[in-house]
Amino acid sequence: MSSNKQLIDKLHDKKSLTRDEWKQLFESYTEEDSIYAAEKARAVADAVYGKDVYIRGIVEFSNVCPNNCLYCGLRAGNKNIDRYRLDEDDIMECCRDGYRYGFRTFVLQSGEDPHFTTEMICRIVKRIKEEFPDCAVTLSIGEKTYEDYKAYRDAGADRYLLRHETANEEHYKKLHPESMSWQNRMRCLKDLKSLGYQVGCGVMIGSPYQTSECLADDMIYMGEFEPEMIGLGPFLPHSDTPFRDEPKGSYETTLFMISLCRLMLPMALIPATTALGTIRPNGREQGVLAGANVIMPNLSPVQVRDKYMLYDNKICTGDSSSECRGCIERRMESIGYKVVISRGDHKKI
Ligand code: SAH
Ligand code: SF4
Repeated sequence: MSSNKQLIDKLHDKKSLTRDEWKQLFESYTEEDSIYAAEKARAVADAVYGKDVYIRGIVEFSNVCPNNCLYCGLRAGNKNIDRYRLDEDDIMECCRDGYRYGFRTFVLQSGEDPHFTTEMICRIVKRIKEEFPDCAVTLSIGEKTYEDYKAYRDAGADRYLLRHETANEEHYKKLHPESMSWQNRMRCLKDLKSLGYQVGCGVMIGSPYQTSECLADDMIYMGEFEPEMIGLGPFLPHSDTPFRDEPKGSYETTLFMISLCRLMLPMALIPATTALGTIRPNGREQGVLAGANVIMPNLSPVQVRDKYMLYDNKICTGDSSSECRGCIERRMESIGYKVVISRGDHKKI
């Protein structure tokens, strides 16, 4: 059997591993292996993106969701949450703030709020693209039809984030109610690719019932799908969900998976996520050092930030957008990286 370091070298050279090899890595990696992978991954990221870190401003415009994903604090079944919606003008105001602070990508994220019709989303996308023609718009608003995705794209949306959550169908069923299906999630991701979006998929590390086989399936799926963006964060329990008593995901495995993704897909845009910064105070810096190259600070109005609680103890809910921007800049400088004012597209685009 190959040693884990040999497998990391193989991944670096061949950009893929077998299912058994992935499984071995996740089951038996040591701290030393993880440091080894991070060094290689960082060298790969430096070769493609240098010391630049791209920032994306997230506008969390509605926490209303009819779905009941078992892990998520916004799930419809959570009655202990103050629901809100921003209107179009509020969203534009967040983007204006963001533009002033140097953001050139706006990410509109929400629950699958039926109040926002396809026409409304298209209108918002168009308004942002008209007022800020040098900016990219990313949508992260869940599962929609092909026609919806096409309409948003025609309106000017550049990118779409839809984590696949798990590439293992049996595992998917344990995280979602029967009304949701893994097939539909996969269909959405395919549709998004076919429409020419830069697409982001991704997983929570350490979600309940996740095994090393699930993680192996995730790596194989991502290797085949070739997402432009990969969102990875630890699962963190939310106290008003069925998973309230489940343990947190592993910080170490999240960093390791970031490195493995960077080695497999050198050009991928990989954020050091808010969940990573929540599980460890310097988690995002460590994420960048493990191979990430994107940070997604919050641009939502301060009054609503503590209402968009996907999980408990989410960071940055009390800070203003300008505070978040300054904080990220300092954090990146402290590790020798710099926040750049750029759309930060995928290098293949
Ligand atoms: N409704 C959209 C976008 C909002 S949720 C969607 O579902 O795609 C965005 C992401 O937050 C989800 O994809 C999920 O991976 C993550 N998330 C939700 N609950 C979480 C939790 N308890 N811990 C960590 N991440 C979580
Ligand atoms: Fe809704 Fe997204 Fe949360 Fe699922 S993960 S409940 S779709 S906001």
